[in-house]
Amino acid sequence: MRLSSGPLPPQTGRRLLELGLRRWRGESGLGKSTLVNSLFLTDLHKDRKLLSAEERISQTVELKKHTVDIEEKGVKLKLTIVDTPGFGDAVNNTECWRPVTDYIDQQFEQYFRDESGLNRKNIQDNRVHCCLYFIPPFGHGLRPVDVQFMKALQDKVNVVPLIAKADCLTPTEIKRLKEQLREEIDKYGIKIYQFPDCDSDEDEEFKQKDKELKESSPFAVIGSNAVVEARGQRVRGRLYPWGIVEVENPSHCDFVKLRTMLIRTHMHDLKDITSDCHYESYRAQCIQTMTSKMNADKRVESPIPILPLATPNAETEKIIKMKDDELKRMQQMLQKMQQQMHEQDL
Ligand code: GDP
Repeated sequence: MRLSSGPLPPQTGRRLLELGLRRWRGESGLGKSTLVNSLFLTDLHKDRKLLSAEERISQTVELKKHTVDIEEKGVKLKLTIVDTPGFGDAVNNTECWRPVTDYIDQQFEQYFRDESGLNRKNIQDNRVHCCLYFIPPFGHGLRPVDVQFMKALQDKVNVVPLIAKADCLTPTEIKRLKEQLREEIDKYGIKIYQFPDCDSDEDEEFKQKDKELKESSPFAVIGSNAVVEARGQRVRGRLYPWGIVEVENPSHCDFVKLRTMLIRTHMHDLKDITSDCHYESYRAQCIQTMTSKMNADKRVESPIPILPLATPNAETEKIIKMKDDELKRMQQMLQKMQQQMHEQDL
């Protein structure tokens, strides 16, 4: 999920927020597109081509990006959703999260470059702010692929696990599955997004809501693209022979809690954690790598003159020049970063 504030559009005077939701993912058919459509009233994948079982066996994970504009209580939000069709679908799912972690790193890298550039005030923030991870309702807790995926992502992005298609479970089963997932998340040391502590001076109603939110995690969600009639009202829901499941009814599922948390109550915290924790550790790692590379290069520039065995040809000279240029760029970048850090310390 990507969230970034922009300047006020003069014609409306409203705050423009950019919100990007990056969702990764359980395997196909878990209701991800339907849930995102329900969450943001979008219509993702209307032209989607569903693959046959045979095609899915050899399928690789690919990333698909969609941008939609939504409006929430007068605040304009720009939502970017990145989907990974194919995750977990192949027979061999070894490292199937790699395209996802690579994607997150690429966004960090781009931000890092922009931040070190001249036009630092107008950086387009494409960093990933949240990952909704869909867990199937049918199994008995986490599968190895779920554990591995979340662990691979936990230090790069805010992972919010969800129980998909919660209407397949009774309230008792949901309660049991949530308890089990919480235990397993703890047992495997998976770091999911932690809701911040509530301020002690908040009013009682707020504190109660905050407590309920924390106790509901992992959220059990239901999605639907259909509008049905329930209690004399038209609502988003799923119509079954035995009754109607209402997506936005809090006694049916945690959909409203998830939506409120994502685009209202915790949007800024998701952004802050991305920036202050995940991006900072990426940045520190980058600086460390650059410093060690520069030190290694300095060592190579030995004080003992080495006589060339032969006159370097044009190709060798080209490579040496490229290396020199690269080194210069890195030195400049490092100097800028050190200067910025120095300014921050003052
Ligand atoms: P995706 O491949 O994960 O994006 O899954 P889709 O959103 O395309 O949904 C796959 C199928 O599951 C469709 O037939 C949906 O109508 C159905 N579906 C989606 N959400 C739910 C849900 O919450 N409960 C149930 N029972 N079915 C759902």
